[in-house]
Amino acid sequence: MKRVEGKVALVTGGAGGLGAASARMLAREGAKVVVTDRREAEARAVAQELGDAGLFVALDVTQEAQWENAMARTLEKFGRLDVLVNNAGMGIVKDVEEMTLDEWRLVHAVNLDGVFLGCKHGIRAMKQSGAKGSIINISSIAGIVGVGQFPAYSSSKGGVRLLSKSVALHCAAKGYGIRCNSVHPGYVETAMVEALSQASGQAEKTRARMLKGIPMGHFGEPDDVANAVLYLASDESKLMTGAEVILDGGATA
Ligand code: NAD
Repeated sequence: MKRVEGKVALVTGGAGGLGAASARMLAREGAKVVVTDRREAEARAVAQELGDAGLFVALDVTQEAQWENAMARTLEKFGRLDVLVNNAGMGIVKDVEEMTLDEWRLVHAVNLDGVFLGCKHGIRAMKQSGAKGSIINISSIAGIVGVGQFPAYSSSKGGVRLLSKSVALHCAAKGYGIRCNSVHPGYVETAMVEALSQASGQAEKTRARMLKGIPMGHFGEPDDVANAVLYLASDESKLMTGAEVILDGGATA
């Protein structure tokens, strides 16, 4: 039996590096996967790769009406929701003195409001399905330690960490059987890390500095994160809630 056979998952930011890897991994292990993103063509292509196991739905995670639509489409097509991967995210490289209030709010809208809306509508859909569901929130090691060039990102990801624990405690107290955990990757080779190193204007130097901060001496791969998502999505982690999974090659050790 495959590890998430019979489960239905929704992944946000599914067009991106970690979202697409998670969607593919969950489908490979037997789940039906709703691939969502605000980048429609790219997310549709990922869903199409999954054949009958995939469904594309456009979803900007900051828009509550779009969450309602995504959950309705998921229940209509696959009949239930067992797994929600709140993965969509973005960052702006500017320190606290340079950042505008609009930039601050944009990062929090996507990274924190988006996860809040996902948890709210995810719990609703899981309850409707009678599912002992799993909510997996992709935070970052920047949600554990501060980053001078990345104050809004760090603040929003720290918020995701504690929101996840609060959701876990709420669902446990209500006896829903729904779990919620956060995942904290260090640097993983995706468009986001590429953009980060380009933003400095000194890509090679920045990459070298990033690597220096990783005791194991190499970046993560998208499947390193997807494997953790798969474990949290599966019943193998059924005792795990309110926990944080750190995947950083020792960077925060
Ligand atoms: P990515 O840029 O490849 O993918 C991010 C995806 O999120 C994109 O497809 C983008 O279109 C989507 N997105 C952005 N704003 C959105 C919105 N408002 N609504 C819906 N979708 C939106 O980056 P990634 O590396 O795959 O990042 C995935 C998650 O992992 C993010 O939350 C990121 O903060 C986190 N993370 C990444 C790393 C890393 O090193 N790559 C490290 C730690 C945490």
